[in-house]
Amino acid sequence: TKTTDTRPAALKPTSLKTATAVEMIGVNKWYGEFHVLRDINLKVERGEKLVICGPSGSGKSTMIRCINRLEEHQKGQIIVDGTELTNDLKKIDEIRRDVGMVFQHFNLFPHLTILENLTLAPIWVKKMPKKDAEEIAMHYLRRVKIPEQATKYPGQLSGGQQQRVAIARSLCMSPKIMLFDEPTSALDPEMVKEVLDTMVSLAEEGMTMLCVTHEMGFARQVADRVIFMDAGQIVEMNTPDEFFRNPQHERTKLFLSQIL
Ligand code: ADP
Ligand code: MG
Repeated sequence: TKTTDTRPAALKPTSLKTATAVEMIGVNKWYGEFHVLRDINLKVERGEKLVICGPSGSGKSTMIRCINRLEEHQKGQIIVDGTELTNDLKKIDEIRRDVGMVFQHFNLFPHLTILENLTLAPIWVKKMPKKDAEEIAMHYLRRVKIPEQATKYPGQLSGGQQQRVAIARSLCMSPKIMLFDEPTSALDPEMVKEVLDTMVSLAEEGMTMLCVTHEMGFARQVADRVIFMDAGQIVEMNTPDEFFRNPQHERTKLFLSQIL
């Protein structure tokens, strides 16, 4: 079921310049002596939804955090919408503006209201007039179905509501690519669905998404491809159908048997 996108043009995520949203070529990363990412090769097309799964400590967070330079890789290339990530701070800023990220623990500012959380970056980073930023913020709060929470503080909201605020906050920056790092794993079970529903509607609108998640229902419903990571490597990459029906590697089979 496709939802009709009724957003004004100015509020739509600006489209990517290139057909490949994210490309990783021979990416390696070490934390000191520890080799955390090993020869990662990955191409995510514009509009693609990629689900990343794998055991704890396999490098999933590190991999997606490299895409907006929250972590630095030491070898190989990472190209985001045609721009290679290097030490060029101007390019890093550009890429960060295009790439939204949602974390497991929401990371909202506790001393700011929901509306203030949403307008902070548009006002200070994008130099948007406060009134415009608030209009856009309210638009996205309606989209995630909690406009009535605008004047509250994060601590007054449930975990599911806070995570929807975090998603809305990312959307206020008009990202071209969204990264999700286990967005539902800190939530009580009854709140998982409301967050996944928000992610599904984003997927239906054509957002390019890289989602670290063990929500396999979500993977089946929206993923174009699923990748399985273990010990810093991409062990397996397939369509969800093949991935679940016919996993190729022992490590994938073991992992699936543990979570399904
Ligand atoms: P995942 O998200 O798959 O659980 P991570 O990317 O968080 O895995 O971590 C991969 C490995 O790197 C783990 O062994 C973790 O302990 C280690 N690690 C993560 N962050 C750091 C860091 N900042 N310094 C050193 N080791 C780290
Ligand atoms: Mg992680």
